[in-house]
Amino acid sequence: MKILFLGTGAADWPTEKPRFGDHRWCASALINDDLLIDPGPCVPDAIYRYNVDIRKIKYVIVTHRHGDHFDEKTVEILTSAGAKLIEFSAGEEKQIGRYTVTATEANHPTCVPTVHFLIDDGEKRIFYGLDGAWLLLSEVEEIKKKPVDLAILDATVGNKKGDYRIFEHNNIRMVIEQKDSLEKYVRKFVISHMAESLHDSHDILTRQMRKENIETAYDGMVIEI
Ligand SMILES: [Zn+2]
Ligand SMILES: [Zn+2]
Repeated sequence: MKILFLGTGAADWPTEKPRFGDHRWCASALINDDLLIDPGPCVPDAIYRYNVDIRKIKYVIVTHRHGDHFDEKTVEILTSAGAKLIEFSAGEEKQIGRYTVTATEANHPTCVPTVHFLIDDGEKRIFYGLDGAWLLLSEVEEIKKKPVDLAILDATVGNKKGDYRIFEHNNIRMVIEQKDSLEKYVRKFVISHMAESLHDSHDILTRQMRKENIETAYDGMVIEI
């Protein structure tokens, strides 16, 4: 399975002009060139930037309708190019082409409903957990059912202490706790959805996370598992 990170930022990054150096577009990912997670406002620019063939995108699935994850114009662009928009309720499992996609309820109370996804392409299985704070027990149980090759976790809040957003997003300490508890079931952990205002540079964050054996996503990053 190939995962291309089209964007790895939270909602506070500028969505139009990318900054030089560190820049993150709104969080979105493309699986195997044909399954897109979250048609946010930056997806058209990211598709152009990373030379994605839009005609290959067959399916678009949505975690939730916060503005950084769902944009009507992006949906129109993708569906006019031939993609199909497929929405999920928590607990639903659907067969989408070669994928078995299971949606789990997410801990993201500023936007209800929000779901996370377990995506199985017949060979590998990943967990996509953006946005949300501590995983709910129901999703942990889903993860435990079958080993997960890659888990993508929310790291919006960074190292900031005492931030109110921990009730809807993770900070780094929460990510590490969850990784330690789930290591038996998950082969590789990656963080994404970093807020511009709550993080140091990508290099500093990457060094910090490497010590924990967690990879830090960046825009345009490709992971093959
Ligand atoms: Zn978000
Ligand atoms: Zn959100």
